[in-house]
Amino acid sequence: MALINCPECNNEISDKAVSCPKCAFPINQQTSDPISKNDKGLTVADGVKTGCGMFIVLPLIIISLLIIVFALIFLSNT
Ligand SMILES: [Zn+2]
Repeated sequence: MALINCPECNNEISDKAVSCPKCAFPINQQTSDPISKNDKGLTVADGVKTGCGMFIVLPLIIISLLIIVFALIFLSNT
């Protein structure tokens, strides 16, 4: 837990504090989920890689599931 100075009143506050207890200046409201999602969205190359990976992996999963289902049907018939 580190201490930072409030940009509004220069009061020492925890960096995990949502707002300054002295002047109620918002501290950590900007470092919430939407920005981290934007950071992930900016890496277009990673998105393309995962997209291609899903296109390759999903048919493989479906095909293997079909093989298992057909094998079970075949075994139950005999
Ligand atoms: Zn303050």
